[in-house]
Amino acid sequence: MEKVDYLRAMEIDCWEKRSSSTNSSTNTESNLTRNLVEESSLSNNWQELADTIANCTKCELHKSRRNTVFGIGDPNADLLIIGEAPGATEDAQGEPFVGRAGKLLDNMLLSIGLQRSNIFIANILKCRPPQNRDPSPKEVATCTPYLTKQIEHIKPKLIVTVGRIAAHFLLNTNLSMAKLRGHSYEYGENKTPLLVTYHPAYLLRSPGEKAKAYQDLQLIKSYL
Ligand code: SF4
Repeated sequence: MEKVDYLRAMEIDCWEKRSSSTNSSTNTESNLTRNLVEESSLSNNWQELADTIANCTKCELHKSRRNTVFGIGDPNADLLIIGEAPGATEDAQGEPFVGRAGKLLDNMLLSIGLQRSNIFIANILKCRPPQNRDPSPKEVATCTPYLTKQIEHIKPKLIVTVGRIAAHFLLNTNLSMAKLRGHSYEYGENKTPLLVTYHPAYLLRSPGEKAKAYQDLQLIKSYL
């Protein structure tokens, strides 16, 4: 047995680093195969990737979306922020993190001297799940090769996941946000540093957690 098996046998929570070419252990083998095939078929050209996403019909979410949300910012940025999925305003405007949550994210970034124009912001899913429900495992498996390709292109020096869904995908874990934040991780073959913080939409609902988010921002700043 490997160490992780002993930990699980003792019912101790543990996480495993997700490589850029692997998927959640909960994925089926067919999902894994589909992901790898799809990812390898994607263009390395940034604009062609954006065009592919704009026309994507690979999951049911394309039927209810108004716009795909590719991401925004500098495709050569040092910092990549990854959220969950577009909400209603993002779906309407085709941009990630707009509306109240977006304004809060902007203010969080400003507090450490950053603006949207000098980072890149993307989501796990490029289309809005109806009623803002959580992305299904199948949707995540289908869509995330696009994100993986974006990460390969951007080659960020730091990845920050905002919210549970993004952290769970990139770290291949189901640990709570309380356990995940405040620590540093590594992503992929390049061992890109990865930090975890709360989603601004959660902070709007739970303003008492903003002090912890501020601590996370200071940790992010120390990496830049
Ligand atoms: S969510 Fe992703 S996989 Fe599904 S239709 Fe949109 S871009 Fe395609």
